[in-house]
Amino acid sequence: MEIQDLNQEIRSKYFKRMEDQTPHSFSASWSGEDLLYSGIGNAIYVILPTPGCAWALSKSGGCTMCSYIADSPLKNIPSEELVDIFRKELARFSIQPKTVVKIFVSGSFLNPEEIHAEARDKILTILNDIEAVEEVVVESRPEYVNREVLEDCCRHIPDKIFEISMGLESSSDEIKKNRINKGFLNEEFERAVLLIKELKNDYKITSKAYLFVKPILTSEKEAIEDAVTSAQYAEKVGVDRISFCPATIHKGTLMELLWRRGSYQPPWIWSIMEIIRRTRKSLKIPIIMDTSGFGSRRGPYNCKKCNKKLKSSIIRSNLDQSIPEEFECKCKYKWEADLDYSHISRSNVNITDRIS
Ligand code: SF4
Ligand SMILES: [Zn+2]
Repeated sequence: MEIQDLNQEIRSKYFKRMEDQTPHSFSASWSGEDLLYSGIGNAIYVILPTPGCAWALSKSGGCTMCSYIADSPLKNIPSEELVDIFRKELARFSIQPKTVVKIFVSGSFLNPEEIHAEARDKILTILNDIEAVEEVVVESRPEYVNREVLEDCCRHIPDKIFEISMGLESSSDEIKKNRINKGFLNEEFERAVLLIKELKNDYKITSKAYLFVKPILTSEKEAIEDAVTSAQYAEKVGVDRISFCPATIHKGTLMELLWRRGSYQPPWIWSIMEIIRRTRKSLKIPIIMDTSGFGSRRGPYNCKKCNKKLKSSIIRSNLDQSIPEEFECKCKYKWEADLDYSHISRSNVNITDRIS
């Protein structure tokens, strides 16, 4: 498959440029305000080093927009060392009541090849023992979501809401296969969500879908429609929350290659506003819009006059789940032109240059 060959070629060049660093240098943590199931609270984000996402390291080369393996030391980390790194990152914060801890492993927390069961269980036990922690969120591809692993996790974190976030990206199997190279279809995602739903009888377990906004080879208009349809689908399947991830250009990806050659552009922030408006009106579950990279050269972009204002209004609306107020700026007519014509001209970049 051509897309996988290209992916692999790009990855291998990138791997060669990576330097040998210690596992600890790949970990990071930060905190901020966030929306929990019980309302507004605090979030602590921890990135842990792992051998890397198994899908990205396979012959497939991984997803076309993702560079997370560049954040991984690409070697096995002994469980004891990983737990020690986790403790040190967590110790940086004074944990306030109403806290969610989000663990990012640049891959699948539930894949024992990426995070050994021993380390996984210890990390969950540490979090279960902290009273102020209300929720713990991890990420996984759906193929690692099975009864045995979930029950094992839940037994180690019985007192907290334990959420499995899965990168569905799009409800279109065609988009997942040919534009994202996701490596699984809706069927696999549905199986995983249904299993989590079944386990709700015994544990405080929930599921979340990540949806990607504007994959490669996708026009502005199609990106909006796909995002809205995918959110409706995910709610119908039974996820408890949705998190949209608008495209930003990661280094060492097929998306970056197309962007450099003028064949791809991240979405307008106007499109993001439209997605929020339409999904918050039609869905009942919480919807979060990730704003990282907004207003930067590699991220969603409008114009210098309105980028910051819109980003702040989206961040506010994530916390209270409101629909952001109508907003006008001169750059809006360019976005409207893109919406009207980019799918006709079959272009994935803007017809007009963006205002700088
Ligand atoms: S998006 Fe997730 S599954 Fe895809 S390559 Fe990145 S870490 Fe792996
Ligand atoms: Zn503007």
